[in-house]
Amino acid sequence: MQKKALITGLTGQDGSYLAELLLSKGYQVFGLVRRSSSGKVDRIRHLSGEVTILSGDLLDQCSLMDAIEQSQPHEIYNLASQSYVPISWTQPALTAEYTALGVSRLLESIRRCHPSSRFYQASSSEVFGQPDESPQTERTAFRPRNPYGVAKAYAHWMTINYRQQYGLYTCCGITYTHESPRRGTEFVFRKITQGAARIKLGLASELKLGNLEARRDWCYAKDAVHAMWLMLQQDQPDDYIIASGETHSVKELVECAFGCVGLRWQDYVSVDPSFYRPDEAVQLVGSIDKICKQLSWQPQYPFEQLVELMVDHDLKELTDRKA
Ligand code: GDP
Repeated sequence: MQKKALITGLTGQDGSYLAELLLSKGYQVFGLVRRSSSGKVDRIRHLSGEVTILSGDLLDQCSLMDAIEQSQPHEIYNLASQSYVPISWTQPALTAEYTALGVSRLLESIRRCHPSSRFYQASSSEVFGQPDESPQTERTAFRPRNPYGVAKAYAHWMTINYRQQYGLYTCCGITYTHESPRRGTEFVFRKITQGAARIKLGLASELKLGNLEARRDWCYAKDAVHAMWLMLQQDQPDDYIIASGETHSVKELVECAFGCVGLRWQDYVSVDPSFYRPDEAVQLVGSIDKICKQLSWQPQYPFEQLVELMVDHDLKELTDRKA
C-alpha cells in the first residue's frame, strides 16, 4: 500500500527536501500551505504535479482537521513555524500562535481525526538557550532565551504529552543549524559560500563579516530530513537530537570556502562590527550519540564536504545567471 505523508512548511528548506525524499521512497505527499505562502514556491517549483497542495493554516483548527481528513496521512511532519528569532521579539504573541499553539491545534486534530498518524515535531536547539552543559543531550534542561525558543519548548512538551496521555506516535527532533543551497544569504554559511563564489567570478571584491570566532554546529539539511523520516519508522516513538555533533568557527568556514575557489581569504574578508551580535549565544553543540546508536544515523556530509557542495552550487548558479 502506498504510504501518505502530510508536510506543513512545505515551501521551506526542510519541507522541500523532505518532500523530495518521501517522493523518492514512493510516498504520496501532501503539503499544507498558507495562502500567504503560496507565492513562495521557488523551493518546490520542480515538484509541482508531484505534491498535492492543501490550503490550511496552523492558526485555524478547522483547516488542519480538513487537511488530515482529506489526506488520511500515515505520517505528518510539522516543519512550519514563525522561525525567525528577531521577529519573535517584535511579534511574540504571533510567534506563540504559530510555533506553540499551532502544534496544540495540530496534535488535537490528529487525536480527533486520525490518531493512527505518526507525528514529527520540529524542535530546535533554541530550546536550550543558555544550556548548563555542552554538548547538549536529549536530557539537557531547556533554558530558552527568546520567544521563539519558549514557543518551541511548549510545542516540544505538548508533543511528548500527547504521546504519554493518548498513546499517539509522536516524536520531537531537536535540530541544530542545518544548511543547504536553499538557505538564504542572510545566514552566515550561505553568505560565505556565495561570497567566495562571487569574488571568484569577479562579481564582488570583498566580503564583510562579523565575529569570525563564533562557532556553530552545522549540518546538511538533507541529512536532517533523512533523520526525521527515520524517526517515524521505528517501533517506538522517541525524541532525538539531530546535529553534526561538532562545531566549527566562522573563520574555519571562510578558510574552507575560499580554499575551494583557490583564493586566500585574508585578501578579501574584512570584519565589520555592524555584523556582531550584541548577545552572542553560548556554544550550542548537540550530542548525536543517541540517534547514531538507536537509528544508525550518521551525517553523510561532513563540514568540508558541505562547504564544497555549497560553493560548487553557488559558482554554478551565478555562472548560469551571467550566461
Ligand atoms: P544563527 O545565528 O544560528 O541563526 O545563524 P547565522 O548564520 O545568522 O549566524 C551564525 C554565527 O555567525 C553567529 O554566531 C554570528 O555572530 C556569526 N557571524 C559572523 N559574521 C556574520 C555575518 O556576517 N552574518 C551572520 N548572519 N552571522 C555572522
